Amino acid sequence: MSRNAFRKRSIRVMISLFLGGLLMVAPAHSTSAAQPSPHHPDLKPTQLAQLHPDWMFLHGDRSIREVALTFDDGPDPISTPAILEILKKERVHATFFVTGKQSLRYPQILKRIQTEGHEIGNHSYDHANFKKLPLSQTQGEVEQTDRILKEMLGHKPTLFRAPYGNLSEDQLQQIVLREGYKVIGWDVDSIDWKAKNPNSIVQTILAQVHPGSIILEHSLPVKEAKQNATIQSLPVVIRSLRDQGYTFVTVSQLLQLDPYAD
Ligand SMILES: [Zn+2]
Repeated sequence: MSRNAFRKRSIRVMISLFLGGLLMVAPAHSTSAAQPSPHHPDLKPTQLAQLHPDWMFLHGDRSIREVALTFDDGPDPISTPAILEILKKERVHATFFVTGKQSLRYPQILKRIQTEGHEIGNHSYDHANFKKLPLSQTQGEVEQTDRILKEMLGHKPTLFRAPYGNLSEDQLQQIVLREGYKVIGWDVDSIDWKAKNPNSIVQTILAQVHPGSIILEHSLPVKEAKQNATIQSLPVVIRSLRDQGYTFVTVSQLLQLDPYAD
């Protein structure tokens, strides 16, 4: 590096340190500002939802004994129909956060979710981890799936859930302000994807549930429905929660949002 280039670089470093210092003493931005400029790079979902209560939701009203069951990562040809059968039998409506990729593979199953009265939200195109992607790419993940779902369902969905629940504040801002979504997390993680025993799913849910809870489960590809603990446990989960006085609603009903735009 030449002397001149070194000096130029030093000046750039000094300027960026100075600007960095300014940012550090800047007040935390308000959640209701018209054009917030997020600068919290690594917040947990609970912190993001606290900072942006109109953008991101982990649960509904704590004073109403309602819960929303959510099933992520479908549609698939075995789990999703098995889950739909149970929901129909139990007269429960749930919310499915689907990927664009799976929706293209199994359009009839996606359509069946809708026809049977359940709600459908955007869960990215191919389940990428947003924390590892630049904004330009996460925008593509959201928009591609948005187009697919709009085409297949006839409406633009308005509920988005990030894969793994991972997203930055900048991504949250992009998904809400640019793409027109509300971001939905959860406050009850059934950890069903790694459960071998259906009973452990029931226990995990009952230990965390509260009025207004959003319960995370999965519609993952399996060879046979009887091998899948989510499916095995679902009737027991529903009946146990009913025994405790809970009723089941979709995410948009729980949060009083519109699940689809025109
Ligand atoms: Zn997922």
